[in-house]
Amino acid sequence: MLKRYVRRPYRDMQHVTRRGVLRRDSFTCAYCGKAANTIDHVIPRSRGGQNTWENLVAACLHCNSRKADKMLSQLGWQLRITPHRPRVAGHLVSGLQHVDAAWDEYLHAS
Ligand SMILES: [Zn+2]
Repeated sequence: MLKRYVRRPYRDMQHVTRRGVLRRDSFTCAYCGKAANTIDHVIPRSRGGQNTWENLVAACLHCNSRKADKMLSQLGWQLRITPHRPRVAGHLVSGLQHVDAAWDEYLHAS
């Protein structure tokens, strides 16, 4: 449960973190659907892939090590999800039953 709320600037919340990617993907491997605790670059860094929400997915250790620096097309793999930048408020408050009215403007922002 959220015990303490630290107000942070909007942009800061969007910063990509390993934990943020795992949470966005519900700790589920984007390649095989099993439990994931690592993150993987869809386009490998060695091929110009960036540290962005759109290029990072949760991956299990097995898939992560099999994929290494290959492209999905080389492996014949497909992503089970489309990686995206999380909606800030929805992402932060998901799981809460009662959302404070103060969140409204963020929850309904596109
Ligand atoms: Zn996997």
